[in-house]
Amino acid sequence: MMNIINTPSPLHVIENELFKSFNLNVLIKRDDLIHPEISGNKWRKLKLNIERFVQGKYEKLLTFGGAYSNHIIATAKLCQQLNIPSIGIIRGEELNPNSNDTLKRAAEMGMELIFVSRQDYDARYEKYYHNLLRNQYGNVLIVEEGGANYYGMLGVSEVISELEHEPDYLVTAIGTGTTAAGLLFGTERTKVIGVPVFKNGGFISVEIEQHMLNAGLMNEDIVDKMNRLVLATDYGFGGYGRTTPELINFINEVYHESNLIFDQVYTAKMYYAFIDLIKKGKIEKGSEVVLLHTGGIQGLNSILTDLSFDPFKL
Ligand SMILES: *Cc1c(COP(=O)(O)O)cnc(C)c1O
Repeated sequence: MMNIINTPSPLHVIENELFKSFNLNVLIKRDDLIHPEISGNKWRKLKLNIERFVQGKYEKLLTFGGAYSNHIIATAKLCQQLNIPSIGIIRGEELNPNSNDTLKRAAEMGMELIFVSRQDYDARYEKYYHNLLRNQYGNVLIVEEGGANYYGMLGVSEVISELEHEPDYLVTAIGTGTTAAGLLFGTERTKVIGVPVFKNGGFISVEIEQHMLNAGLMNEDIVDKMNRLVLATDYGFGGYGRTTPELINFINEVYHESNLIFDQVYTAKMYYAFIDLIKKGKIEKGSEVVLLHTGGIQGLNSILTDLSFDPFKL
């Protein structure tokens, strides 16, 4: 759709002693290299939503996000490129376009930012709120927070068609669960290990199952797919957006060892979990594993002082 988008994304091998000792063939699908700002899975989830906009008769694209949202940045950039007017409904009425780099950048790219109370934001999935927004902002295409809708899920499943064959395992970080759902949807035999990046992540299986229902799958297919989902719920590191010195050290170590950059909100928790699951014997020896690097490097700004690299100059 756009020549600034680098797909199919590269697939790289990661080699280290741990993987070798368990005879694991570990590959990483570099969706972080799709685009510096339209990061990884946010592109996957926006792609078909944008096509929906182009084919419809909408005036603007409206979506939702928190103050540091990768999805807001990705949407703002994509809409700027395609000359689509965009509106971001942002959680936090006390914020403004100068509150942080994410919001500043989104505003610079022409997104109209509307700051709402947490109470209003809580209504972001409600029909009455959508109608209210349409009354206020015209014929807008409303895209769910994080691109978490049917089209987003379907877009993610294109990751699978970029692989030569289904691996034994796919591993991804989980926010809304849309990415994990897309990976399950697109595979027939792969075990999908999902790492919720927040506390008590077990509930997310309900959201993932909902995506399967929305896609119109038959019951036995849903059961099969949900049986292949492995939730690794012990790697929230205190909650969404929280981090620990251990995790920051881990990010630095991995960078120096493998030249891979993971962000502290999503992908570092995914990789940490994967390493830990291997050490605990939870990954079958001799397996082929594809880790999904979902991107998110723009979120690194807040800890970049700890790291001595420019992610886009590697
Ligand atoms: C948004 C995001 C995720 C979470 O994806 P979901 O589809 O919401 O589960 C994972 N990694 C990165 C880098 C993200 O920006």
